[in-house]
Amino acid sequence: MKRLILIIVAMATMSLATTQLSAQDLAHYKKIVKELSSAKYQGRGYAFGGVNKAGKYLEKEFTKAGVDEVVCQPFKMDINTFPGAMKMAVDGKKLQAGVDYTLREFSPGVKGSFKLYHIDTANYNSDKIFADLASPEYKDAFVVCDFWFTYKHSADFRRLQSRKETPSVAGLIYTWNEPLKFYKAYGERVIEKPMLWATTSALSATAKSIELDIENKFLKDYECFNVIAKVEGKRHDACYVFTAHYDHLGLLGKKVFYAGAHDNASGTAAIVTLAAHYAKNRPEYDIYFIAFSGEDAYLRGSEWYAKNPLVPLTQIRYLFNLDMIGDNNPVQYCEVSDEGERGYELFVKINNDKKYFKSLDRGKLAGNSDHYPFAQRHVPCIFLENKEGDAFKFYHTTFDTWERAIFDSYEPTFKLVTDFIEQY
Ligand SMILES: [Zn+2]
Repeated sequence: MKRLILIIVAMATMSLATTQLSAQDLAHYKKIVKELSSAKYQGRGYAFGGVNKAGKYLEKEFTKAGVDEVVCQPFKMDINTFPGAMKMAVDGKKLQAGVDYTLREFSPGVKGSFKLYHIDTANYNSDKIFADLASPEYKDAFVVCDFWFTYKHSADFRRLQSRKETPSVAGLIYTWNEPLKFYKAYGERVIEKPMLWATTSALSATAKSIELDIENKFLKDYECFNVIAKVEGKRHDACYVFTAHYDHLGLLGKKVFYAGAHDNASGTAAIVTLAAHYAKNRPEYDIYFIAFSGEDAYLRGSEWYAKNPLVPLTQIRYLFNLDMIGDNNPVQYCEVSDEGERGYELFVKINNDKKYFKSLDRGKLAGNSDHYPFAQRHVPCIFLENKEGDAFKFYHTTFDTWERAIFDSYEPTFKLVTDFIEQY
């Protein structure tokens, strides 16, 4: 009898510590991932306001989730975009934007036909290269080189990028393996010469010439906004914060967009379903759910918020940054701030008890996502990213789509963080 009571008590405590996730939660999650990854938001970039449209959608979704308050926090940034012409052909053969080639985020537009000058990486001789490129034969040529090789001779490649030092070089193409990635992180400026990335298969060593028609548009003081939802707890003297960025890479020309299902419709959708969960199951402390903009443009939204917080950062008991949680690696990658150490021990304990993930793999704290501005300001925080699963190879490529979205890591992530809040 006594033993039976003990078992019942044990079962009761277990159910208290484990949040039950319903089929509706997963359906709700998938619906948001699908919506944010759709063509309507054009990769949640800047040129045609896709990112702000997504922000408005999230404002509505948080309200529908039953939160107490939603605030949009505006901020401005400069950003280079590619909203217009996007054509490249090699020796007359048309290439596919986003698959065969992409732009560097800081590239200007370019139009015309150009000869190619391939850097001889096996017999590298910079004097010969600069002499060749100054000769009439290669006037207005594009220089082609293996991307990683350019790092070995970065001073030479900086010269090749300078209009003053190498006026006869029209632009640069760095070759790279598939799938080709695209970035926005350094798009707050435009450099002097066009710079592209192409796959090694699309631009072979024997290619002779290219035709380009690429338009860029530099947006100055572009206004974006963070979407901040709040669920009131019983206590208001401290809070928990969930963060996820909802912006992505936008367009490459008029037709190609970066859907960003994994990066980061997955984390954004998760924080909306967490908001719905806590609106129904009132927490002890207030909880904020912040969907950041401008993350892929170098953590602009989270930097802005960290400098202009709605509640003092010292009130944050713990912050959870969910970035790319739509994958299937049974091992969960995380980064933790110095002040988050005690919390991390609890994460490990919960995970060891419940086996939500096979294990947690802790990496070195880095400025790679929205937790970083908070970690720098001594906020206890964790970054959760489901890394190196089947979706990982597609991040920042045009293949990161709803059709390829994976949902395995959603439920264990949800349970891990909700258990944590109950026990911290
Ligand atoms: Zn990203």
